[in-house]
Amino acid sequence: MQPPDCPEMTAIALDEPFEFGCHPGVPCFNHCCRDLNQALTPHDVLQLRRHLGLSWASFVRDFADVHMGPSTGLPVVSLRFHAQAGRLCPFVTSRGCRVYAARPTSCRLYPLARALQRNRADGRLTVHYALLREPHCRGFEQPQRQTVRRWLADQQLAAGLAANDELMQLIVLKNQRRPGALAPRQRQWALMALYDLDTLKTSAGTLPAMGGSDLGPPPDHRDDPAWLNWGLAWIQRALLDG
Ligand code: SF4
Ligand code: SF4
Repeated sequence: MQPPDCPEMTAIALDEPFEFGCHPGVPCFNHCCRDLNQALTPHDVLQLRRHLGLSWASFVRDFADVHMGPSTGLPVVSLRFHAQAGRLCPFVTSRGCRVYAARPTSCRLYPLARALQRNRADGRLTVHYALLREPHCRGFEQPQRQTVRRWLADQQLAAGLAANDELMQLIVLKNQRRPGALAPRQRQWALMALYDLDTLKTSAGTLPAMGGSDLGPPPDHRDDPAWLNWGLAWIQRALLDG
């Protein structure tokens, strides 16, 4: 039995019902937007930057911290929570999330947790979900019937989860074939290809061509999602084949 102040995780199937609702009327409104270790994926950063109209450099200056992951050797970008004021998310207001339309994937997913499992024999991926019940979250008292499938659709999670899975594949391959810290030049490349699309666009013509012709030419200058895919494919080759 869990102590009362501990989060509780329960595995849940895609169409298994649960009761949950989150809206400005819940007594815990905004309580989940503080004291988090909120890592942002490349997809999350791009959505936030476009919503806020910020370059990568301005986004990092105002809202994010960057460090190299001790286990992956790849850059980790996280939201900079206010050191004062109860470690609040920089985007939370008394009326809710001011970047709601571009909120990160993990914010959309909550109160669900998601894990990918790869079959060693055939490489197939299986997705597992769990319900995360934390004492501060009163959403489970709301009589709104949900299923995992419905929650994923309502929160418009398809693009974010697909992008996260691509990143996970990169991390798995990197850990298998080039474990540990990267050389300084490779660290710069990884940060640029995954997050700093402004520099990637201006540098693409001078980057080493990796892995033959399947990478394709750099995308149209204005198509940021295509640049993110191109950068991910390029860095995979640069780290693993280069
Ligand atoms: S981004 Fe929005 S939803 Fe996510 S923690 Fe911050 S305020 Fe809350
Ligand atoms: S119901 Fe849960 S997810 Fe919604 S505001 Fe409250 S603590 Fe956050």
